[in-house]
Amino acid sequence: MTYQIPRGTADLLPEQSPAWQSLEQHLKDFCYLYDFREIRTPIFEHTNVFKRENDSSDMVNKEMYTFTLPGSKTSLTIRPEGTAGVVRSFVENKLYADPDLPMKLYYLGPMARHERPQKGRLRIFNQFGVESLGVKSPYADAEVMVLAYSILKSLGLSDIRILLNTLGDDESRAAYRAALKDYFAPYVGELCADCKRRYEQNPLRILDCKVDHDKECMQQAPRMSDYLNDESREYFRTVCEILDRLEIPYQVEDDLVRGLDYYTHTVFEIVSENREMGAQSTVLAGGRYDNLIPYFGGPEGMSGIGWALGLERLLIALQAEGITLEDAAGVDCYVMVLDEKARMYAFELLTQLRAAGYQSEMDFQGRGFKGQFKAADRAHAKHVLIIGGREFEEGVVTVKTTETRTQETVAAADLVAYLDGLDADGDDHHHHDHEEGCQCEACRGEH
Ligand code: ATP
Ligand code: MG
Repeated sequence: MTYQIPRGTADLLPEQSPAWQSLEQHLKDFCYLYDFREIRTPIFEHTNVFKRENDSSDMVNKEMYTFTLPGSKTSLTIRPEGTAGVVRSFVENKLYADPDLPMKLYYLGPMARHERPQKGRLRIFNQFGVESLGVKSPYADAEVMVLAYSILKSLGLSDIRILLNTLGDDESRAAYRAALKDYFAPYVGELCADCKRRYEQNPLRILDCKVDHDKECMQQAPRMSDYLNDESREYFRTVCEILDRLEIPYQVEDDLVRGLDYYTHTVFEIVSENREMGAQSTVLAGGRYDNLIPYFGGPEGMSGIGWALGLERLLIALQAEGITLEDAAGVDCYVMVLDEKARMYAFELLTQLRAAGYQSEMDFQGRGFKGQFKAADRAHAKHVLIIGGREFEEGVVTVKTTETRTQETVAAADLVAYLDGLDADGDDHHHHDHEEGCQCEACRGEH
């Protein structure tokens, strides 16, 4: 019997976690700057949160992990995306009654979709997303797009492009839908099985089909832009005008419809044009939704806009451009124990070092001098603390400082002050988390 991870899922191993943590911190810092606050919703919801009436998307119809536990009638679905749960919560908790809308929220976490696994496409993947709920203004659209673009630019990505389109309001879409039905009527037979279903349910989806994309009948299909009413056209014009004014580059793609059925008006994607992305080049995608908040029982006419970013895809895009995130800083102190009777004493010093803010590590394996010294080296220790029988008996520690290649024996009681002093002398100012007004030796010199 062997145990293996399920297909299309991945472990985040400790060697990768610094990059993930640094990326997540970066995203959160940006949200702070734009005043978006975190929301956490459950990783499963009642199935009807995702499976809404008339939804024709692949995600809802083919990719959801839906289950019912034995003895229960409740159908639950592991979330395939973040927006539906966030909107459900926004309505259920009456957040729409807040006097200061839009409610600007972000979320981060795993999503599940039963897809064919390939590079940049997993069955469990992580999304970071934002939603701006409750105000329909082109400025709200621009705000989330500027946020998205700024995040990706600030990470150093250069091969990225914003693709932008509008799906218009319900009236415009109904007109377009009718035009598509007329147009595709003679071609339905040539389309893939999914598109035959889409033809009935939502012909807009046909334009998004990866199978039929290159067929001739797709090229001549009616264009959304010809069916927009004045209001929808004006809304989109203003969104574009704001982006122009801010010199945010974008490209209007009038066949961009997006994979989810709930979008209205503005839809957008940010793609990486780096060749290594292959077919999975969309890093971030989103749009406005006029009908979702009312669908969940919120106020009629209340609209929202959001986007989601695939973290795995973003990391592939960063890697493709040679951008690394994690800082490979070493530990501050590595404590070597050279005599078993000194172990308790050493462990106590280790604890004191950590309490003083020094990231510290120690051998538990009882390795010899050479083995421990190599471990200290692998940990890129700034200071190696040597504790043998003599140090134990005299209550001292021998401190070797890697950078300056100095070695000194100091009393255990003075150890932290000694290290603080070294840090204060060096270029590296001390980095433990002492607050303003801290009276430790190093801090007294600074504040
Ligand atoms: P695609 O066209 O690639 O299937 P989508 O339209 O289904 O994408 P969204 O539902 O809009 O994607 O999700 C937003 C982002 O989440 C995508 O741009 C992508 O970065 C990421 N994403 C979506 N599905 C997956 C997946 N199966 N594995 C990894 N990342 C994904
Ligand atoms: Mg998809």
